[in-house]
Order: sequence, then structure tokens, then C-alpha cells
Amino acid sequence: MKYQCTRDSSVTVTASQAIVQGIAKNGGLFVPETLPAYTLADLTAMNGQSYFDRAAKVVSDFLPEFTPEEIEECVQGAYGGGKFSGGHPAPVVAVKDGDCAMNILELWHGPTCAFKDMALQLLPHLLTHSLRKTKCEKTAVILVATSGDTGKAALEGFKDVKGTEMLVFYPENGVSPMQKRQMNTQEGSNVSVCAIEGNFDDAQTGVKKLFVDPAINEKLHANGMLFSSANSINWGRLLPQIVYYVSAYSDLMERGAIQPGDPINVVVPTGNFGNILAGYYASKMGLPVNKFICASNSNNVLTDFLKTGEYNRNRDFHATISPSMDILISSNLERLLYDVTGHDCKKVAGWMQELSEKGCYKVDDETFQKISAVFDAGFCSDEDTKKTIRQVYDNAGYLCDTHTAVAVKVYEDYVARTGDKTPTVIDSTASPYKFASSVLSAVDDQYDDKMDEFDKVERLSKLTGTEVPAPIAGLKEKPVRFQNVCEKEQMGDVLLRLLGLA
Ligand SMILES: *Cc1c(COP(=O)(O)O)cnc(C)c1O
Repeated sequence: MKYQCTRDSSVTVTASQAIVQGIAKNGGLFVPETLPAYTLADLTAMNGQSYFDRAAKVVSDFLPEFTPEEIEECVQGAYGGGKFSGGHPAPVVAVKDGDCAMNILELWHGPTCAFKDMALQLLPHLLTHSLRKTKCEKTAVILVATSGDTGKAALEGFKDVKGTEMLVFYPENGVSPMQKRQMNTQEGSNVSVCAIEGNFDDAQTGVKKLFVDPAINEKLHANGMLFSSANSINWGRLLPQIVYYVSAYSDLMERGAIQPGDPINVVVPTGNFGNILAGYYASKMGLPVNKFICASNSNNVLTDFLKTGEYNRNRDFHATISPSMDILISSNLERLLYDVTGHDCKKVAGWMQELSEKGCYKVDDETFQKISAVFDAGFCSDEDTKKTIRQVYDNAGYLCDTHTAVAVKVYEDYVARTGDKTPTVIDSTASPYKFASSVLSAVDDQYDDKMDEFDKVERLSKLTGTEVPAPIAGLKEKPVRFQNVCEKEQMGDVLLRLLGLA
């Protein structure tokens, strides 16, 4: 299986090259030329299997140059060793809110309590094997732009991984206090963290510029280093996410919630469009999915796109209580466009150029029809997010985080609008404790905003009788290691200084 570039299909690379490079030189993204095809028998064969076995099957089907032993090592290294709490890295929990039955796919049992762990625990293993396979003896310098969760999950995944150096940029005022604390207390001799004065899109744009900056690339090269990426533009981030859609379907079959072959709906709280795209790939491989419902917060650029075919980032940016979705440029949409146009790289490159020059583009009717056949969309305000947290907690005794609540609200609106009763999986992307202030304010009638963050965590636990995840409970005692802040124009200087190349 080869991988090709979304902006020039004639550029093809192996899986390991795609993972090492992260992004193509022309700014395009790597995608598999063809997808593996799963029959219903393949899917039912996974009933009763462990998450490890399911992951090994899916991951190996995309990485032909990896041996079964290597795959096993990667999968065990990522999901084994007690790094994920509970017996299942991605359990499905049945929740009933009034008439609305939901299957909540909990993706936050990993070391940083957000769904990014599902991919970022596996990526370092895929990358180190890929570096070896591509005969690359250089140190991989991994730059990350984060709206909060990616940064911490990447730091945790890559800390002390040999042959890698990591620098994370986050928007100074665009992450939750808990997220900031998680990143600034990170351990590991090969990692650094820096806040920037700007929003997430500034951080992402800055990182993309560094990746293609000729002077910086030359300097790295001369010092035995090269850039790689842990952002969701890297194929090695998307691949691990396909696994949990397949796994959730098996779990639902196993418990008789669906019969083999029954279609499901999938609701995904969405920012960069990586998570929902992985689900889309699973459906292209044969997973029976009726609709993907894309849930956004008030940064609703995707809702508008999926309803009109016009993508327009020229709008106000809102800092919301679901900050991991505060994004106006959803990079992975490019991969969807490449797929639905039948790999028309000229069209895709044209739209991406319009996006970068004018901030907007409109897809043709045929493309739009194809997308609307599979995707529905909606968005949710902060006020409704809090109301939903409260309502699900009161009605079902289930405590969800702000991002998950956005998905629940958008799903309930969808059901009210369409009457569609297809069994539905809702991705839960973070532990409520990661966004303790907002969650507590939703469920606590005596909420006091001035309380210290860790006191809020404790109060949330007492009030709801839920357990504080160990990685969050342990943070209080950890010393702060990083306090760097820079302007967005200084990101290159910060990088060179930290690598000792300034
Ligand atoms: C990253 C993130 C999202 C958005 O996922 P995308 O793959 O970027 O669409 C949603 N919720 C949480 C908690 C996240 O960390």
C-alpha cells in the first residue's frame, strides 16, 4: 500500500515515509491510495477480541512494511502497561437521556485524560520504527501546535523517546487552567513547552511556516535533525483512531445492542476534523454507518460548510468552554475532499490555495451532494453546553465534559429535527475533570468561581460521587517546569534556542 499527496497524486511514499515526513513538501497531506475492505465476517470476527487484537488487525492492514512482531510491540507499548485505566482503552457506555438513547464511546482513559492519547500513545512507536525503516539516522524534531489536549498527549507520548526532540506551542489564553498546568509540569529530557501570544490558528499557522522555512530546515539538516509532526495532519495520528470505531461496532454487536450489519450513526465533537475523518475511513472500509454528525461549538465554520458547501474562515474567533474545538481551519477536511472528489488533486490544491489566499472556498455541487449524503452537522453555544451537562447528569447520572456535551446537544437536536432513531455512538473526547471549572459550574448550585482549580476538582468529585482520574489528582504536587511565552513571530527563534542551534 502506497500513500499519495492530496495536492499532487503523482507524489507517492511508503507508509513509513508518510509517518516520518508528517506533511508533504507542497503542503498537501498523505492518504492511502486504497483502503482495506472489511466484510461483515471480518467485523464479526472481532467480537470477543481484546482492543489489542483489534488494533493490531487494523493497524497492520495499513502498514505493509511492519512485521507482525513490530505491530504487536507498537500496540502493546501504546495501550498496555496500565497506561489506560480500566480494562478497555475505549469502552462504550449506554446512557439514556429521556427518549434519547446514546452509546457513549469513552476515549479518555489514557494518561492525559483526553482522546488524543488514543493516537499519541501509538504514534511514537510507529515513528521510531518508521525512522529505522526509512534508514533515517537523524533526530526527529517534533513541533506541535495545540489547543490544549494534543500538546499534553504528545508530550506524554514522546517524553524520553530516543531520537526525538519535541517543542509544543499553545495559545497563552486559549487553554484551560488544567491543560496549562498539565503541559507546564511535563517531565522528560527531550521536551519543551512555550505559550504564544495569539490563538490556536496562529500557533498552527506558525508551526506550518516553520516546517517549510528553508533556513531553519537547512540548519536542522546540518545538525543531524529533521522535522516531523505529531499534529493530526500526520497519517500516524489518524490510523490509530480508525481502530476505536471498528472496536465500538464490535462491542455493540457483542452486547446485542445491534445485529451484524445494522447501520449506526456516529456523533463527533469536532475541531480539526481528524477524529470524524477516521470514522469516515472506517465506514469506507466497510463499517456500516448511516450518518456522521459533526458537532461544533460557536466556532461553527464546519456546520456552515456541511450545510452549504462553502468554507469561510473569515469570521470572529470565539474562545469557548470547549477550547479543544476552538478552530477555524480544520486541516483534515482536505483529506475528505480528496476522497469525495475521487482523488482530484487539482481541485483540492485549488481550494486549499483559495483558503490560504482569501480565507474561503466553495466546493462544486457534485462534491457537496456526496458530502451531504454522509454528513450532518450542528453547533452548540456555551450556555447550551452547560445546560446539557446538567441535564444529562440529572436525567441519567452521567457526568460528561464540555466537548462531549456539545456532541450530545447536537445529537439531540438532530433527533428532534429528523426523527432518526438509528443506534448512535457519541464520541466522548475528554474526562470531565479536565474541564473541571465549566463542568462544576454546570452541576453545582453553589458554584464559586474564585475557588482554586484543584479545590474545584475535589468538589466535583464529592458532589457527583465520581472519581478523580489519577493523572489529574497527581498534578497538584508536580513542580512547574515551563513558563516561556513568546510572540508568534518569535517561534523560530524559540525553536533554535531550545535545540541549542541559535
Ligand atoms: C482535539 C479534541 C477534539 C477535536 O478533535 P479533532 O480530531 O481535532 O476534530 C474534541 N474534543 C477534545 C477533548 C479534543 O481534545
